Amino acid sequence: MTCMSEKMKAPSVTGDGLAGGTAAGGRPSPMELAFAEAEQAAAAGEVPVGAVIVSPEGEILAAAGNRPKAANDPTAHAELLAIREACAKLGSERLIDCDLYVTLEPCAMCAAAISFARIRRLYFGAYDPKGGGVEHGPRFFGQPTCHHAPEVIGGLNETRASEMLKAFFAERR
Ligand SMILES: [Zn+2]
Repeated sequence: MTCMSEKMKAPSVTGDGLAGGTAAGGRPSPMELAFAEAEQAAAAGEVPVGAVIVSPEGEILAAAGNRPKAANDPTAHAELLAIREACAKLGSERLIDCDLYVTLEPCAMCAAAISFARIRRLYFGAYDPKGGGVEHGPRFFGQPTCHHAPEVIGGLNETRASEMLKAFFAERR
C-alpha cells in the first residue's frame, strides 16, 4: 500500500486531544466535532453519523453529518459529504496527508471514497458488523483492487459512538 507516510507516529487516542474531549486551548477535538455532527443528524431524523476531515496542519477542513433523507440522496453519507467539502476547499480531488474522523465504521462506498481521496488516516468510533466495509463485509482496504489504504484506527470513543446509535434506533422501534 502506498501511503504509510514518512510522518508516521503512534497516534495517541487519549492523551493529546485528538480523541474525544477537548484539545489543549479549549478547541474541541475532531472526534468531538464528529459527535456534534452526528447529534445534529439524529435531531433531523437521520442515522447519527458525523465525519470531520483534518489537514496535515491540524486545520478542520470539513465537518458533516449524515443526510440521505434530507438530500434525497442515498450517497449523502457523512464521510462523502465531508470529503466533497474538504476537496472543494482545497481545490483538489485528493486529500493527501489529511485524516478523517467518523463516528461509525465506514460502509464500502465511503471506504472507496476515502481510498480515492488518498486519506492518510481513518479514525472511526463504533464498529459496524451489519454495514461496515472496513473491518467487516468487503473489507475494502484489504482488496487487491484497492490502490491506497489509509492507516485505520477503529474503536475511538467506541462506547459513546455505539450508544448514540443504539439510543437512536431504540427510539424508532
Ligand atoms: Zn458510507
